[in-house]
Amino acid sequence: MKLFNTLSRTVEDFVPNEEGVVKFYTCGPTVYHYAHIGNIRNYIGHDVLDKTFRYLGYDVSRCMNITDVGHLTSDGDSGEDKMEVARKREHKSAMEIAQFYTKAFFEDFEKVNCRVPDIVSPATSNIPMYIKIITKLLDDGFAYISGGNVYFDTSKLKDYYVLTNSKEDELVVGAREGVLEDSNKKNQADFVLWFTSSKFKNHELLWDSPWGKGYPGWHIECSGISIKFLGEKLDIHGGGVDNIFPHHTNEIAQSESYLGHKWCNYWFHNEHLIDEGGKMSKSKGGILTVSTLEDDGYDPLAFRFMCLNSHYRRQLLFTFDGLKQAQDTLFKLRNKIRSIDKDGDLLENEIQEYKIRFASELENDLNTSNALSVLYEVLKDNNLNGNSKLELVKDFDSVLSLNLTKENPKKKGVIKEEVNEEKRVDENFIQDKINARKSAKDNKDYQEADKIRDELLSLGIKLIDTKDGTIYEKI
Ligand code: AMP
Ligand code: ZN
Repeated sequence: MKLFNTLSRTVEDFVPNEEGVVKFYTCGPTVYHYAHIGNIRNYIGHDVLDKTFRYLGYDVSRCMNITDVGHLTSDGDSGEDKMEVARKREHKSAMEIAQFYTKAFFEDFEKVNCRVPDIVSPATSNIPMYIKIITKLLDDGFAYISGGNVYFDTSKLKDYYVLTNSKEDELVVGAREGVLEDSNKKNQADFVLWFTSSKFKNHELLWDSPWGKGYPGWHIECSGISIKFLGEKLDIHGGGVDNIFPHHTNEIAQSESYLGHKWCNYWFHNEHLIDEGGKMSKSKGGILTVSTLEDDGYDPLAFRFMCLNSHYRRQLLFTFDGLKQAQDTLFKLRNKIRSIDKDGDLLENEIQEYKIRFASELENDLNTSNALSVLYEVLKDNNLNGNSKLELVKDFDSVLSLNLTKENPKKKGVIKEEVNEEKRVDENFIQDKINARKSAKDNKDYQEADKIRDELLSLGIKLIDTKDGTIYEKI
């Protein structure tokens, strides 16, 4: 199996630590809102990898966390915990929010036929593990206490930026986002392992710790859960490309400092689903979810099919036209498969050859669109009898998971093809605010500039200052 490894930035042979066994960790959702279809694209990519490993005969242990505490609105340790934002927005407890959106997440996850990982664990269930790791990091000099919080000291590592090929200055999140630097940090890149209530007084979820009542940082959760459930040597760890820095960079720093050896050999990152406005992200209203697509008359698996038609390392532009086309093609495909006569004895040699070809496309860094082409060839092959074709369709569908032998679902709603006007207005509004903030900054009116930034943040819009100007993300 060949896979692109973000660590080496090359396509490599995948060789697990233990022959035939794969320990695979996926960063799970932050359950403060519905998962949008961009998030789901990422999980479809992980699902295809999981099923490909199984198809190739590996024994897979896959673990995924549920982030229900500690993920702040800025990945650079500033802003509020996203769960707190949701708690205030919806006037519910953090646990009620987590339960509601976890359930909604798995409903959508299953609608696109993603297999639930073998182990799913919420961040809040593993606090003693984080405390154990942080205690050792403090004892060994990799962490320090400042202003009541515990920070990881990135200056202790020679290769903190091992997972990225960008320069340090471009990456430091505080600098990138134009947010005030945390004066408790010794180095700008340091990150929080444990927050105490001194930082956010109204935080609902707090646990006792040797450093005072508080809560864990986002990064320590994935290290802790992965080490707890999959052991000290991980084969492969994945997420969306936005997780490369700082999340996965910080996971490597703290896990390897804690363990004293290399932790994970392969890093698997899925490119984003984008819309005309850029990277899709969770916003206050109008987010596209698998369930909203279904309500609009689409088969959720048409979205999966759309994802499989593109490579996981390419950005995918989402349009309703594209989805409609994907759905039409998928529906025709299913109709064609359902019209196959169940005749003839299985042609074992031909079947085997096709299976090898299908597997080799997946083994080639998950080339799902070529794997689909093998399926089309099977359907067109006049030398294959009906039973052999159906045997291959069933076999391929164990990875593709497109319900290829089932009937097309009845439409639930009327397909909308129009662009959402409300979203356009929204984008103009944000752009005006970005321009106003730039003018304020140009006039050295930093108070006004900060006011605009905070106003947008309170509306769920995070501004990110880059060297090419300000962009935004819906959080
Ligand atoms: P979150 O729920 O925000 O923690 O995100 C869950 C996963 O979705 C993370 O691994 C992100 O990297 C990934 N993700 C976020 N936005 C997108 C997007 N637009 N396209 C694909 N993946 C995304
Ligand atoms: Zn993670």
